Order: sequence, then C-alpha cells, then structure tokens
Amino acid sequence: MTERTLHPDTLALHGGYRSDPATGAVAVPIYQTTSYQFRDTDHAENLFALKELGNIYTRIMNPTDDVLEKRLTALEGGAAGLALSSGQAASTFSILNLCEAGDNFVSSTDIYGGTWNLFANTLKSLGIECRFVDPEDPEAFARATDDKTRCYYAETLPNPKLHIFPIAEVASIGRKLGVPLIMDNTAAPLLCRPFDHGAAIVVYSTTKFIGGHGTSIGGMLIDGGNFDWEAQSERFRLLNSPDPSYHGAVWTEAAKPLGPIAYILRARVILLRDFGSCMSPLNAFQFIQGVESLPVRMVRHCENAARVADFLASHDTVETVIYPGLQSGEVRKRADTYLSNGYGALVGFEVKGGRDAGKAFIDNLELLYHVANIGDARSLAIHPASTTHSQLSEADQLATGTTPGYVRLSIGLEHIDDIIADLQQALEKVS
Ligand code: PLP
Repeated sequence: MTERTLHPDTLALHGGYRSDPATGAVAVPIYQTTSYQFRDTDHAENLFALKELGNIYTRIMNPTDDVLEKRLTALEGGAAGLALSSGQAASTFSILNLCEAGDNFVSSTDIYGGTWNLFANTLKSLGIECRFVDPEDPEAFARATDDKTRCYYAETLPNPKLHIFPIAEVASIGRKLGVPLIMDNTAAPLLCRPFDHGAAIVVYSTTKFIGGHGTSIGGMLIDGGNFDWEAQSERFRLLNSPDPSYHGAVWTEAAKPLGPIAYILRARVILLRDFGSCMSPLNAFQFIQGVESLPVRMVRHCENAARVADFLASHDTVETVIYPGLQSGEVRKRADTYLSNGYGALVGFEVKGGRDAGKAFIDNLELLYHVANIGDARSLAIHPASTTHSQLSEADQLATGTTPGYVRLSIGLEHIDDIIADLQQALEKVS
C-alpha cells in the first residue's frame, strides 16, 4: 500500500507517519526541543553540508513539524512541504524565494487583505513590485509579464468575492512563459488540489480549516515538484546561481539527490534559517490533530454553508448572497470545475442598508462569533469594510469585492437550525 493510492480521508490520519521511531507512540509526539545531539563531528559536518539529511536545530526542522509537512504534502499530491509560523509567513516566503529587489510578480486582485498589504506596500518597500490584475481575464497575467516576472499568485476561493480562480487557465499561460503559479488554498483544503490543475506551489494558512479549532497560528508552503526551474536559469537566478550564503550551493543542483524540491529546499535552508519564522512543535501537533478530522469537518462545513446560503437568498433584508453554489454562468462553471464535494464554508452577503446595516447585523449576533478568522469549528462573522479591509483605499476595497454592506460568514459545525435561528434574529433587528 503506497501513499499515492490512499484516499484523502485515510491520508489525513496516516500520511507521513506510522509510529514514533524512538518510542513506538502512535500519536505524533511533540518534540519540544531546540537542538539534536550529533553522533560525532563527521555527522555534524555532513548535516550542515546537506550531504546527509537529519535534524540540526528546530528553527529549520523538527520531527513533529516534519509529520505535518509530509501529511499536507501527501494530501496535496506535492513533493515536499515547509511548516511556518503563520499564513503570512508562508505568503511572504513564497515570493521572497523567487524575487529580489528589481523583480516583479503578478497577483490576482482577489486576495486576503493582509496579503494585499504585504504585496502592495511591504514588498514594494523591499524593491519587489506586485502587479495586480483582474482574475476574470486570465490573459491579463500574460500582458503583465516581462523578463523580470518571477511568479503569479492567487487564491483558490478568495473572499470576499468567492469567485473561484481560473487555476488551469493561468497556470498554463504561466507555463508557456516560464512563470510558476503560486496558489493560496487556505479556504479550500480537500475541495481543490491546485497541483492537479497546473499550479507549482501551494500556500496555506493552517490557522484556518487545517487547525479547525481556532487555537493556533501557522502556515505551510508546499512544492509541487512539477516546475522546471532550470529551463529558465536567468528568471530563477536565486535557484540557479551559486548562493554565497551557503558555500556557493546551486539549489537546483543541490536538490538533485533529494528529488524535485529545489524551491522548498532553498526556502528552508535560506529563508527559514535567516528570517526564523518557524512553526512551534506544539502548534504542529495541534494542526496534526486538526488534519485528522479535516475530511469529516469539511463535509459538514459545506453542508451547513449551503443551507445558510439558501436561507439568506430567501430573506427580504438581504440584497445579494455571494456563495459559489449560487453563482451562475462562467463563475459557477469554474466553481464546478475546481471544487469537489462542496462549495466551502464561506458565505458572503450584502445587507440592505449598507455600512450601518452591516455593522448592526454583526452587533446583534448571539451565537456566531464576531472575529477576524475563518475556518473555525464555530460559526464566525465579520464586516470587512470596517475591519479586515479597512486599511485599504475605497478603490482597493471595491477591487477586492468589499462593498459597504458586505458581511462575511464562515459557517461552522453547529446544528444548522441554531445557526439559521441566530442569523434570522440578527437580520430581523436590522430590518
Ligand atoms: N491567506 C488567507 C486566504 C487568509 O484568509 C489569511 C488570514 O486570514 C492568511 C493567508 C494569513 O494567515 P495567518 O493569519 O495564518 O497569518
């Protein structure tokens, strides 16, 4: 039985681990250690020279994190993963692993507000230009590409718009031009596998559905092992030229004995070594617990969200409902192409009465939590225009789909009648 033949439900429980080699423990132990005793000086030298793989220091690897990396990589059908301290760290690393000052990358406008700020402001201050394009026009990615373009970036199921990104269309444009597509799959684990559609790298905020219980912040970067970095040695200089910070290593060469993992190898031994945004082993353990029940949780998330979307669509106080299962035309076709087993847990809607009504709805909720998070087992709500997207200009808010009365729900696992009863009473108080 190889991992490649196992179903996701089975991989979620068994991927990357059978039992602890030291103790036989079936639950993954929390290796709460900073360092690892070297056998002798030759062993230490070989580990540092990457001639032998093994644990050196928890800032760059840890056995508990390693199981989570292997498990998520198996679920995505990728080649290798890197656990990080947050989703923000994962998005940052995904770009900094390819771009230097003077380079650019092209991003969909439909991304999380925190990623937008990172791309539009912080990376800009480092000399890296983000070119935002409308994902409804995949050719816009080609038009924005030049010989300094290092990657494309998008979210599978971006909120607030919840229009599924045209993954295969943009990945194939990128592959023709020699540009890899990085997909943030945070809102659609198990519903979509971006590598199956041509993406090269997957980013996760594990804080959300993977953890699933709102306890821990974390991120994951997964290398699909399916992109030829050597074919464009100029474009991917960071992977193809000698690295002065690591004995002149050339990452595409150094990775050869290990597999098609040049991208993730550099992210680990350079970016994680230097920036230090590692995932704590305790958090990795929490995420492993989360992954084990992810397949069953996603089913219930999707069922409950579909029921909520139908309820909102029939309510007088609601202007519009934004939910992939209620979309039509091309946008719906994409949802059906890229998502399987449900349309996710996120439901957006526009309350009649604009900004004040949106805020009043939130203030009247009794069961749903008012928090800046998604993917918790509990149902959550937020008014993006006054919170997550409030730092964006009005024009940028509209570009990301944040209208003044927009409310975003992340539907949890409670009994559906209780969720709907709370929405109903809060809407009644607004109207
Ligand atoms: N990507 C998406 C789609 C998100 O929704 C978030 C957070 O809300 C992030 C990335 C950032 O993740 P984190 O909060 O774990 O840093």
